[in-house]
Amino acid sequence: MEKACEGLEILNAKDFRDINPGDRILMGPGPSDVPARTLQAIAAPCIGHLDPYFLEIMNEVQQLLRFLFQTENELTIPVSGTGSAGMETCFVNLVEPGDEVVVCVNGVFGTRMADIVNRIGGKLVRVDAEWGTAIDPRALKDAIAGRKPKVVAVVHAETSTGVCQPLEDLARISHDAGALFLVDTVTSLGGMPVAIDDMNIDAVYSGTQKCISGPPGLSPVSFSRAAVRAMEQRKTPVVSWYLDLSMVRDYWGTERKYHHTAPINMIYSLREALRLITEEGLDMRFERHRLNHRALVAGIEAMGLSMLVPEPIRLPMLNAVRIPEGVEDITVRKVLLNQFGIEIGGGLGQFAGKVWRIGLMGHSCRRKNVLLLLAALETVLKSEGYPARPGALDAATAVYDQAC
Ligand SMILES: *Cc1c(COP(=O)(O)O)cnc(C)c1O
Repeated sequence: MEKACEGLEILNAKDFRDINPGDRILMGPGPSDVPARTLQAIAAPCIGHLDPYFLEIMNEVQQLLRFLFQTENELTIPVSGTGSAGMETCFVNLVEPGDEVVVCVNGVFGTRMADIVNRIGGKLVRVDAEWGTAIDPRALKDAIAGRKPKVVAVVHAETSTGVCQPLEDLARISHDAGALFLVDTVTSLGGMPVAIDDMNIDAVYSGTQKCISGPPGLSPVSFSRAAVRAMEQRKTPVVSWYLDLSMVRDYWGTERKYHHTAPINMIYSLREALRLITEEGLDMRFERHRLNHRALVAGIEAMGLSMLVPEPIRLPMLNAVRIPEGVEDITVRKVLLNQFGIEIGGGLGQFAGKVWRIGLMGHSCRRKNVLLLLAALETVLKSEGYPARPGALDAATAVYDQAC
């Protein structure tokens, strides 16, 4: 036992047990289940961040990310940090103090973008839509009229509500106004098409722990040529030293100039997660997300519950289900976790206590999980006194049967 300095608690190593979180099925808003292969990749030897072997891994990760984003953008890298670090990277590199920035807000993550723009001295113009609905392109058009914004920003998959934002009109309106189009794809990437070149997106960020099914800790980011040009024409230095892409890209590019030590083993795991995605194929993966989503919704509705978001703008990977009157949100989630090992999410912000958020992301998005959750939820709801109608599993199974 170590002798402690005066006043300090004496630590006994035996008091700290091995890490063993137990079995969990992650069906919340992220993180999602991480496949064994992706976890094992982390355990490969840590080598130098300029080791020729690691430089090769970096090149491959960039190649795989370009495939996932369906882009030819040279500046496509995983930023060291979670999705929010990717969000900040995009704003701090493109926005200078006084620049006008339009942020579309219909949930928690649009609100976070607006917060960042304010903090870095951008001139914020908000386009709001009710939470649970999509941004109306006409509202963006009206907000832009008579202005010259540098950036228009929007969330593709709003994880706080389950809304899928159609991007085509917003991209066109933004470019017509001469603005760069910045999109949050943290929850959409890897679970639905995010073809950024076809969709005319200039700057994009994502995260590893949602539909990519890696551990949290990295944020894939990609900048179009127009975005890179805007970055190069800045008059003031980027306010964040760590996230300054003009320096970070000298490490990921051919110069290999040290900026900060790459999180080596995290990048191994991202490479494996991306390799699994290419093995499955993008179309198969997106179809898997749609199918499991349809089966889940069929079961939820058969039980007598209802979805928050109208069908045409529902995300496949994030399902917001209204909590029925008289049912205790926390109790249900606690029983799901303790008795079934299933994690689902509660509501955020104005939807706290009002909806459950059921994630079908990446590796978690599987038939057996859908069926288990429906059975578990039906059981828990009944024990809480809610008269769940029978037939949820039959309804979900019918969707799967129709599909083959
Ligand atoms: C999860 C999420 C983020 C933030 O990512 P973190 O990894 O939690 O920092 C940003 N945007 C959306 C849409 C998200 O779902």
